[in-house]
Amino acid sequence: MNKVLLHCRPGFEKECAAEVQELAAELEVYGFPRVINNSGFVLFEGYGPEDGNLLMEKLNFAELIFARSWFVVQAELSDMDPNDRISAIMQHAELLPKSGKLWVESGEGDEYRSLLSFCRKFTVPLRQAMRSTGLLTKTERDKMPRIHLFLTDSGNGYLGYSRSDNGSQYYMGIERLKFPSDAPSRSTLKLDEAFSVFLTPEEQEQRAHSGLKAVDLGACPGGWTYQLVRRGMFVEAIDNGEMAASLMETGQVTHYAVDGFKHEPIHSNNHWLICDMIEKPDRVTGLMTRWFINGWCNEAIFNLKLPMKQRYTMVSDCLNQLSSALRHAGVRHEIKAKHLYHDREEITVYVHRRK
Ligand code: SAM
Repeated sequence: MNKVLLHCRPGFEKECAAEVQELAAELEVYGFPRVINNSGFVLFEGYGPEDGNLLMEKLNFAELIFARSWFVVQAELSDMDPNDRISAIMQHAELLPKSGKLWVESGEGDEYRSLLSFCRKFTVPLRQAMRSTGLLTKTERDKMPRIHLFLTDSGNGYLGYSRSDNGSQYYMGIERLKFPSDAPSRSTLKLDEAFSVFLTPEEQEQRAHSGLKAVDLGACPGGWTYQLVRRGMFVEAIDNGEMAASLMETGQVTHYAVDGFKHEPIHSNNHWLICDMIEKPDRVTGLMTRWFINGWCNEAIFNLKLPMKQRYTMVSDCLNQLSSALRHAGVRHEIKAKHLYHDREEITVYVHRRK
């Protein structure tokens, strides 16, 4: 098939579309995106008959910033009989690979609430039908393809598959994290999700562990610092505001009421830099560049706030600017970026100094 369906945050369809079109073109897969504003998904249609499969094969999902999840569309389902949707779906079974999971999905947000509840209920009989024909394994398997049924309403949708080694491991690309009741702000979940998206569990053990030094720019009231403290790190918290008393009592946090754009790390062996200051993206990018060139950190996680219209252009410009400045200064590095589930008008960026 020639299409892929990409999930994104409702309102970010244009960014998701521009990105997939650009990255596909770099792989010489040409096509056009179909966008419905606020739908929470984008359909990219290639001109070649196998372009959907080709993209799943060649385009690294981790490079997509605005897509939360994706799959190759194998069949479009329209006007399914409400009394027998399963037959309408199963007639396309031979187009799908043997799979380890079935995800019946939709867009995200309030207007999809009742459809998502239908998706959950419908999963049970559809899974049963797919297991009985051998299309799905008897028990769920993480390392096999996943079947996606994306419904736009209870009678219409798209059926396809994704590869487990080139896609999100979560239903609709959303990792459900529990808000820790003692964290000072909900934005703590952003940093928790960022660690999980950008570092494997082994990398987290090696590089985000107890005893490391970290600096948090724009730290108050301390939701991000909380995640570092929880991992046993010692944090310089930079902000003119008030830090949560519970964090200060841990003895792992030192608070400096100074400007984050002027602060330099107190410790020469500082490892992490995190930054959630509400500032212009190019200004934050310049600051991050300075920290890496000066050798003040080895890894960083920061937000680029995107209240402007040209969000995709701004993100591309900032990441190109960061990468070329670091290369020019001889700093070997890796950059990853994602529009996380817990991000709103912003994206999260991860930078790692390579040995
Ligand atoms: N990450 C924090 C948390 O999880 O609790 C929330 C940070 S809040 C979005 C942004 C913070 O950046 C504010 O507390 C603000 O005072 C701080 N800030 C903005 N500009 C700053 C600057 N130039 N220097 C230091 N802090 C700054």
